[in-house]
Amino acid sequence: MKSKINKSEEEWRKALTPEEFHVLREKGTERPFTGKYVDHKKKGTYVCAGCGNELFSSDTKFDSGTGWPSFWAPVSEDSVNRKPDNSLGMRRTEVLCSRCGGHLGHFFDDGPKPTGHRFCINSVALHFKEQKESAE
Ligand code: FE
Repeated sequence: MKSKINKSEEEWRKALTPEEFHVLREKGTERPFTGKYVDHKKKGTYVCAGCGNELFSSDTKFDSGTGWPSFWAPVSEDSVNRKPDNSLGMRRTEVLCSRCGGHLGHFFDDGPKPTGHRFCINSVALHFKEQKESAE
């Protein structure tokens, strides 16, 4: 079981940029096609911008055409949590970091093979760790 992070709102405000705070802690959504990882194709691992938890591998990233970085699977089943989200008059499934509880984006079941899953994630909620050449 990973250690959970519990920070106060004030602590999160100090630790995050205003954009990160809005998405991760206030469940905001960045405007489509504005995020820095939408067309990002380097090999490596996307981690939580709030706590560094490893979330998605570049190996599962695909071009969904939605304007947000999209993945067909998380790094592991326990790296993210999914939760029903009925806000804004829509039935959606929210994706949260399992370690800090930060809001990452939403989950849909219209993704590509092999899972058919689509994790639609805000770039702002992610940091990227590039894979070292020697690890190939
Ligand atoms: Fe996190």
